[in-house]
Amino acid sequence: MSESELRDLIARDVSVLESGLTLLNKEQYIPNLLGTRSYIDLYARDRDGHHVLIELKRSNAAARDAIHEIHKYVEGVKQHFGARDDEIRVFVASTEWKELTVSFSRFATDTAMSVTGLQIHVDEVDDISVTRVPVLPMSQGRFIAPWHDVNWYSDEDGLKKGLASIDACCQAKGIVDYIVIVLRPPKPIHSEHQAKMRASLMQIATMQGLSVRPGAEVLPTYGYIAYFAMHALSASQYMAILKRDASALEEADNVLGGMDDEEALQYLNESVSALEPRPDNDHYEIGYPAKFSKYLDGDQCNVEVVRRYGMFERNTLLTDDDIISEVRGEDGATGQRFKRTLNVANRAHMAAARTDIARCLDQNPAWKSHVLRALEDIEREFPEADIKVSIFNPATGIFTPYLVATREEGLLFLPTYHVIVHNPEPSRMYFGALQANGSALTFKQLLNKYYDGRLDGLLMTMTWGGYESRDADIVEDFGASYRSFRFEIKERKFFSFRDDRWRSADEVHFIGLANEYFEKNAKLVNVIVGKIAPRESNGIFDSSSAELILDGMADLTRGLQEQQFFGNPPEECDICSCPLSEEKYMVDGAVQSAGGAWACMCGDCFVTQGKGLGLGVGQLYLRHADAWLKVAG
Ligand SMILES: [Zn+2]
Repeated sequence: MSESELRDLIARDVSVLESGLTLLNKEQYIPNLLGTRSYIDLYARDRDGHHVLIELKRSNAAARDAIHEIHKYVEGVKQHFGARDDEIRVFVASTEWKELTVSFSRFATDTAMSVTGLQIHVDEVDDISVTRVPVLPMSQGRFIAPWHDVNWYSDEDGLKKGLASIDACCQAKGIVDYIVIVLRPPKPIHSEHQAKMRASLMQIATMQGLSVRPGAEVLPTYGYIAYFAMHALSASQYMAILKRDASALEEADNVLGGMDDEEALQYLNESVSALEPRPDNDHYEIGYPAKFSKYLDGDQCNVEVVRRYGMFERNTLLTDDDIISEVRGEDGATGQRFKRTLNVANRAHMAAARTDIARCLDQNPAWKSHVLRALEDIEREFPEADIKVSIFNPATGIFTPYLVATREEGLLFLPTYHVIVHNPEPSRMYFGALQANGSALTFKQLLNKYYDGRLDGLLMTMTWGGYESRDADIVEDFGASYRSFRFEIKERKFFSFRDDRWRSADEVHFIGLANEYFEKNAKLVNVIVGKIAPRESNGIFDSSSAELILDGMADLTRGLQEQQFFGNPPEECDICSCPLSEEKYMVDGAVQSAGGAWACMCGDCFVTQGKGLGLGVGQLYLRHADAWLKVAG
């Protein structure tokens, strides 16, 4: 079906696009002062009497030009009819959205007009159905992609060559807006990433009984890092770069269909980075905001220079510190951190901050509404003040209590936010903290609800840093709530936010609330730590499945013949203290590290800490008809 056939089909009944729509004209002529085309595909009126401009598209190729054309019509309509922005609505309707989504979202975000995207489906008998296309969250202007390259160099010579090669590669690929931050440790350091890889290789070698070359455990050290980050491109811009390599382009075309937009951009960014030519380096790894922050915090590395290109070079108002803060992800782009000082009177800054805060707290609806509401209150009550906003929203689900309990500076892993009003003296503080809500599920119930009952499923999330999009629900289920508090600094009065209003409260502190949660939920936290900690080594989590391993060891047929049951089993695993009533397997056996001592353990503890199965070593039991049936050992 051609574009004009599609137009005629829809023109028969425009109300398929939105009820109440009346067609005014097909191919409405617009005297156009600005450019070439001067017909709107369909021109309609909505229920409220707005001008509705409908642009129809049929293919990906045509879709790319669509937005450019819409800009022109809109200007034409404004002049021709003397219409105001708020009297015009734009519908972009297409059967293909792959190429269109990003530029459409950019347009919808930038314009003050009401813009609607519609995906058109036409079936064999020309029946039309329509679904609305969501607008992707777009940043305003500059946006450093949160996917970076880390190039390591052993000496200054290597660094010089490396920097020149980074520039040459960008030029070859047509990447113009980027930064290279040269980092230098006070004395040469090794890469932690390389150390972890090396450690797990050595572990595999040892397990396989392979001999390891002497000296293989010595890690190379490096004197410089060239840390690369670029302004995020649109999907079609990334694709244009990938055209350099037919196979990369083909692969992208094949895999992109199944990805959501954010995933697709990350994939495209990584493909562009992997494309030849690649920069010279002595060691390469992937970077991301948390890793970059780690280099800078604790004085691991100093910033030698921030090399700026394209928009980053032209924008002289942008400081190196601004750039570093954005590469750290403090603009909220990664959904984890946001940090900014704002002047309340500057409405543009406040508007930009609201957008970034909403993005940072996208997965945390409670805090999103609390913080945005706090900004409204501040604008009303302190119109001249400066405010400092700092948000940490790691969204790590079950790993949040785990990291707090097992890390040296554990409290740093707790989500929190602060909004401090300086008027000009510090006068008010809003802050957020997790508070115990007294209704926690057990660990097994959490696994059942979110990870198909599987510990390995939970541990897999650590491969991408533990980020969990269902964090808000999981947090409620492990017995905590995202709560907000207000502190009037001069009066020393506290308020807590409940049922949509501020109520006077007793003095309350972030650390006190954390302690209260961990006291009330000590048992759950114990099980979480008991289950996960044995699976962690140097920050790497072993996500093998205990149940799968035990399924392979259990012999139910023999077990049913022998009919041996475990009498009087304990209620909890002796090691991690999880309730055994929730487990599929239980092992009565020797513990590796306990000098021959025996324990009744859950399957997970057996896999990481049991000695094995067999006479005098351990017996495996399967839950069967409300009793423990011996199935191996
Ligand atoms: Zn256990």
